[in-house]
Amino acid sequence: MQSLTAEDARSWIDRFTADVDDRFADLTDLDRRAGDGDYGTNLRSALRRASANLEAGPTDSPEAVFTAVANGFLNTGGTSGPLFGMWFREFAKAFATATTAEAVATGATNAAAVVQRLGKAEVGHKTMVDAMVPAAEALTAAVEEGTDLPGALRSAATAAHEGAESTEELLARRGRASYVGEHARGVIDPGALTVAWFFDAAVSVTAP
Ligand code: ADP
Ligand code: MG
Ligand code: MG
Repeated sequence: MQSLTAEDARSWIDRFTADVDDRFADLTDLDRRAGDGDYGTNLRSALRRASANLEAGPTDSPEAVFTAVANGFLNTGGTSGPLFGMWFREFAKAFATATTAEAVATGATNAAAVVQRLGKAEVGHKTMVDAMVPAAEALTAAVEEGTDLPGALRSAATAAHEGAESTEELLARRGRASYVGEHARGVIDPGALTVAWFFDAAVSVTAP
């Protein structure tokens, strides 16, 4: 597989949506321990809006699929909604011209940069950025090494999981988790975990 079709993009999103639904309680619990407990609800609402947008179409290109998802998130509340909305929008933009591993790497790089700019978050601040940045870097490195698309996505998933796990021992510097100080230590950031699941979903739909 050299590039993603519209059908692949749709499967990727559908798989991600199903995984989030299955793990809704875990996400809620993490945000309850280090935030206000609404993260699972916010994420599920955004993905329901995304699914409605996908049903309404058009979904004839990966760009259209990711635009529908971005719009679902941009219209959802919570801190995570607009940030993920802008993140998905950068993938949509990158997919306007290609959906190769290189395009995924470009999308992920621009997307992580937009979220960092909007949220003023650096790696190590215990947010979704802690998974987004290493995933983007892993994709870029994989492209430079000439890795194929499924392999590049596997590297991204591994890096995103490592990034998400690294948030467990951190004190938060951004978001509501930063209000609870030491109470957030020992709690994985749910936004970062979601990013790791997003790349897992990509791996499962592109695995040879
Ligand atoms: P809220 O705090 O408004 O209830 P959500 O529960 O929807 O927000 O989202 C919480 C997630 O948002 C966190 O797990 C974290 O990953 C992410 N987040 C919070 N603040 C920021 C920020 N400034 N930059 C990047 N991500 C952030
Ligand atoms: Mg919350
Ligand atoms: Mg909230």
